[in-house]
Amino acid sequence: MKPAPFTYHDPRSLGDATALLAQHENARVLAGGQSLMPMMNFRYAMPDHLIDLNKVDELAYIRIEDNALKIGAMTRQRDIEFSADIGEHCPLLQAALAHVGHRQTRNRGTLGGSLCHQDPSAELVNIAALLGATMHAASTRGERDIPFAEFAVAYMTTALEPDEMLTAVTFPLPQKNCGHAFVEFARRHGDFAIVACSALIGLDAKGHIAEAAIALSGLSHAPVRPAEIEQALLGQKPGADAFKAAAAEAEKLDAGADAYITSSYRQHLARVLTYRALEQAAAQANEMQHG
Ligand SMILES: Cc1cc2nc3c(=O)[nH]c(=O)nc-3n(C[C@H](O)[C@H](O)[C@H](O)COP(=O)(O)OP(=O)(O)OC[C@H]3O[C@@H](n4cnc5c(N)ncnc54)[C@H](O)[C@@H]3O)c2cc1C
Repeated sequence: MKPAPFTYHDPRSLGDATALLAQHENARVLAGGQSLMPMMNFRYAMPDHLIDLNKVDELAYIRIEDNALKIGAMTRQRDIEFSADIGEHCPLLQAALAHVGHRQTRNRGTLGGSLCHQDPSAELVNIAALLGATMHAASTRGERDIPFAEFAVAYMTTALEPDEMLTAVTFPLPQKNCGHAFVEFARRHGDFAIVACSALIGLDAKGHIAEAAIALSGLSHAPVRPAEIEQALLGQKPGADAFKAAAAEAEKLDAGADAYITSSYRQHLARVLTYRALEQAAAQANEMQHG
């Protein structure tokens, strides 16, 4: 298949890109093209105007500022994977990226493209939920920040207005003493996960759980942050009893089904992966505490 006819635009600045988005109806921005081009070739997406962001250099950067990591929307996944700053301050992001597609797709694919595409199982979407990222959007009407929890409004649909684009994402950095883990189950390496789970665990001076965060992807249109399970872990001794109880609750979360995967299988994976993620994150936190 070939894409339906469209007009190609090649802006060099954010201002030009937002002006084009404001001028044209049925316009789409092009980032790495790893999801949009196949969708256009299959005619799932038929934009009349394609606004290519690949020469808008101001949208590609990685900055550590005020206990947060700010990444421009057009930053390539491969640059995030190899950033020494991210390796030092937010290695969880690199752990998740190791599961995203293949090195060829990560060479072109961008952070912003993955978050705007909003595949329910996308690894970067999972981490944005776990860390409570802030999404920065711009249009000719101005700029606004959208908490990640309000960004995914429906299946593969974001809170961005048709004339808005994502410019950057801010990830609050996890506490220095937090252990992390990212685990997923996919049919083949490089495939989207059926279910994925990330976790952060921090321990207090007595070795009890002082911080717990979990994000599960693949159950619903957006990653689930099970607040009650996270709360129940606080104050507990990290170990099989606490993690089994958390995993059993994860199995009770609502899960959707499709033509290939039943909801009960997704719930089973939620249990297994929650246990593994908590166990790995706690082991890392313990090692950080005891050296
Ligand atoms: C073989 C293969 C395997 C893959 N496996 C995985 C995987 O395991 N996990 C995974 O998460 N992904 C996977 N992907 C998808 C890949 O990660 C893509 O990089 C990602 O989904 C889209 O990023 P992109 O930069 O290519 O965006 P594009 O394809 O260019 O755009 C995707 C969508 O986002 C919109 N968009 C892009 N940037 C912006 C912006 N700044 N503001 C507003 N809207 C924007 C576009 O208009 C489009 O609708 C795979 C892709 C391929 C081809």
